Amino acid sequence: MALQINAATFTGIDGITVNVEVDISKGLPAFNMVGLADVSVKESKERVRSAIINSGFTFPINRITINLAPADLKKEGALFDLPIAIGILAATHQISIDSIDEYIIIGELSLNGSLKKIKGALPIALKGVKEGINKIIIPTDNSKECCIVKDCSVFPFDNLSQVVDYFEYKDSLPYKYEEPPIPENFEFDFSDIIGQESSKRAIEVAASGGHNMILFGPPGSGKTMMAKRIPSILPPLSYDESLEVTQIYSVCGKLEDNNLIFKRPFRNPHHTSSQIALVGGGSKLIPGEISLSHNGVLFLDEILEFKKSVLEVLRQPLEDRVIKISKATGSVTYPCNFMLIASLNPCPCGNYGSNKECTCTEYERKRYIGKLSNPLLDRMDLFSFVNTLTYEEITKGKKSESSEDIRKRVIKTREIQSERFRKDGLYCNAQMDQKHIKKYCELTSDANKIVKSLYNKFKVSTRAYSRILKVSRTIADMNESEKINQIHIIEAMQYRKFIDEKII
Ligand SMILES: [Zn+2]
Repeated sequence: MALQINAATFTGIDGITVNVEVDISKGLPAFNMVGLADVSVKESKERVRSAIINSGFTFPINRITINLAPADLKKEGALFDLPIAIGILAATHQISIDSIDEYIIIGELSLNGSLKKIKGALPIALKGVKEGINKIIIPTDNSKECCIVKDCSVFPFDNLSQVVDYFEYKDSLPYKYEEPPIPENFEFDFSDIIGQESSKRAIEVAASGGHNMILFGPPGSGKTMMAKRIPSILPPLSYDESLEVTQIYSVCGKLEDNNLIFKRPFRNPHHTSSQIALVGGGSKLIPGEISLSHNGVLFLDEILEFKKSVLEVLRQPLEDRVIKISKATGSVTYPCNFMLIASLNPCPCGNYGSNKECTCTEYERKRYIGKLSNPLLDRMDLFSFVNTLTYEEITKGKKSESSEDIRKRVIKTREIQSERFRKDGLYCNAQMDQKHIKKYCELTSDANKIVKSLYNKFKVSTRAYSRILKVSRTIADMNESEKINQIHIIEAMQYRKFIDEKII
């Protein structure tokens, strides 16, 4: 009878259990692998053979058949090396198989038998716990990421011999769940920013409601400096949010300190980034920047420098907050719930609207800004002009508020939203659709009058109108006001003013 070893793989950020069946029979020596294994898995034959021999065990000279079940799932990667090697050693009685079915075994082997770090250990450990197999044997370098899973017993090893010894003597105690560290201070703090009170206020509104935002103004005015400080005022990640983010980094091998990510991501891709780098894909269907920014901030510095075609692909994920990437061999879905923060110069020379002289013609300006399509502009909630500071502002500037103080207010406003959306499955105002807007954005009669007159005066589009209501809702929440009044509406309208003071 064929011997079975529990292994696992992942698709997207979901773990999938896989049975490695090993059958060794008499016949001409052969080593076959079946069950939709791709080239990268088939290569494991050579590694497994060398690792077994170089660890001092005997490689059987028989007919070996490995079946990876379920057969309809495409399997790739080197993470089946270890379960295949253990299966062969078990089938030839070189390892004790007592209670072997209580474990998920994964790991890549090098030719000398040592175990190398694999991608996706976290989603695999989570899946194991979900299916009731909570003991996991993994390479030592993956131990930290697995220790963030509650109820998981992690058995990390450096090489094949250690795994064999473990099954013989059961003398190692597992690593258990470790409480994640308390977030330390952020690298950047808003107390470093002098002046710019109106932009800071707009950023606080954006952070409070999870809104998308464009910062525009002359070069050197501090747009990037401010954007980099946004994560420092966002609420801390919950355990579940942290797990989601960490899983994304786990499957693409980007977990640098091998531990739970407890800070909201801030991604700042270069403007030469390709479409695949931004949204994900490629032959391995890897996640892109929008997923690496999940539960955090995607900052597109100098957004007009990005290729228009690259920017356009952001439209759908901005609406859906998930991205489905397909290719001939299959498709995966990655979460991508991020705040989009973009910066741009208002014209080619950069000085238009500022306290310096602009040397561009109107045609040049319009052509420049025209690179930003209307559908993309429609998905932005707030616009804030960042001017260069005058000499007086720099020298007289009062001490700026710290990120910690701003963050306390943001957390309070987010709590109001969590309470409101408890039954709706949303977590912030930016996520509201028409149905929610109708339900939760009640205006006072004065506010209604203001909206009517501004709406007619500025010919606001319907989509922009919804954005204004959502941002007003956030401002009202910041003031702990149940209804949206005229002050909230007027402030939200201010944030729809783009270049030329045009309301869009
Ligand atoms: Zn200019």
